[in-house]
Amino acid sequence: MTRMLIRNVAVLVVPEQGECRVDEAQDIHIQDNLITAITPTTPPTANAARGASAAGGPGAMGGAGDMGGPGAAGGVGGAGGSGGSGGELGVGEVVDGTGLVAVPGLVNSHTHSPMVMMRGAAEDLSIEDWFNQRIWPVEVNLTPERVRVGARLACAEMLLAGVTTFVDHYFHADQIAAAAIESGIRADLAPTYFSSAGQDGINAAIDTTRELSQLHPRVTASLGPHATYTVSDDDLKRTAEIARAEGLRIHLHAAETDEQTQASLDNHGVTPIQVLERTGVLDAGALIAHGCGIRESDLPILERYADRTTVASCPKVYLKLAMGEVTPIKGLRSAGVHVGVGTDGAAVHNTLDVWEAIRMVALTQKQREHDAEWMALSDALRLATRGSAAAAGLADQVGVLEPGRQADIALVDLGAPHNQPIHDPRAALVYSVRASDVVTVLVAGKVVVRDRRLTTVDLDEILADAKSLAHTLVDLSKGGAIQHYGP
Ligand SMILES: [Zn+2]
Repeated sequence: MTRMLIRNVAVLVVPEQGECRVDEAQDIHIQDNLITAITPTTPPTANAARGASAAGGPGAMGGAGDMGGPGAAGGVGGAGGSGGSGGELGVGEVVDGTGLVAVPGLVNSHTHSPMVMMRGAAEDLSIEDWFNQRIWPVEVNLTPERVRVGARLACAEMLLAGVTTFVDHYFHADQIAAAAIESGIRADLAPTYFSSAGQDGINAAIDTTRELSQLHPRVTASLGPHATYTVSDDDLKRTAEIARAEGLRIHLHAAETDEQTQASLDNHGVTPIQVLERTGVLDAGALIAHGCGIRESDLPILERYADRTTVASCPKVYLKLAMGEVTPIKGLRSAGVHVGVGTDGAAVHNTLDVWEAIRMVALTQKQREHDAEWMALSDALRLATRGSAAAAGLADQVGVLEPGRQADIALVDLGAPHNQPIHDPRAALVYSVRASDVVTVLVAGKVVVRDRRLTTVDLDEILADAKSLAHTLVDLSKGGAIQHYGP
């Protein structure tokens, strides 16, 4: 049994409905992988001569310079209660949270992590050219090693930014699992397949899902048909049957653009969401990536499966590829469908920075609805926490800081000039915080980032490996492509 205490930290509280808030001066008690209690910080005892309470008392959040001053950021005490309070014998490691805000570890609810290896390699292209001229030709070069190196880089980037779970959809997923396990991050992995891979290729991907689902407590696995436009109805049907029979979820792309929805209507007489319904995918339980082409008429369908089907929104990608639409989050939420926040792959998003994705969601939703009051701070934070946890299939385990949940926690220092002075810490978390403001990160009760450094892996080695392999991945001299895009 391992105990840990995060002492004297401000805590982001995200209720199911209503306003989020930040509670000052809290202690987060952790035992093994779980949060066991969150209590007001015990005042220092009378004979604690060090004056430990000088920072972080009630009201500290409002004042410029009170937070994150020199020496205040995330120091880690030794065993046995270095905080100076009585009654802490046997608490194990004490992390000093003075001047920091504890937020639920972020969840990247849709990504293709190894695509960090293609960062900046496919710019200023239409969605057709992005797929057909760059990405699918590049992916001819995928090897287990290149995927592993990319996944290690991705895990490092995400953990340093306070992302504690990622929901992935890619090839060679066993290599991604190895990187996740090594780095200490939590992952849901969907080994990806196209119908063009044939039954053997599809079966191999499905077998990998089965293997990964048994591999490690921090790894879950989903079935990963690529999309409604690259996987046949028959293959989707078979996927749904396996999902239902074996208790697996399905993670796929659907209705990414309105153009795709219109093409589906023109060619098949149904929307992509109707395809997912009639093939049993929605009934089995699905995470739908993007859904920007979801029509008003699709909402009652999705409402019927809202207890098991979710949508991930990655708006930076929609802007960059000029897709014309963003995810209709307001309609989906009205239908009771949970929506999470994701980055998609870095071949278009350029980062795996979920803070950036949260900001993009808030901004694009206000613009979409022509309503500055929609996607308020609390809505954005709820989407990024509870919504993304639901999208990851981990709604009862992560996404909220409360007893019984996994101790997946990011401690954020809002002391930098771009956040100060603070009138509302929630506004800082949505609109001004940077990934580099994350100081300390725990996953399943284990410190994986301490004082902005990874504790689990050698970042220099990861960067060197990525640099040495990156050019081999984007070499198009072999010719060919793994798939062709045509909505
Ligand atoms: Zn995607």
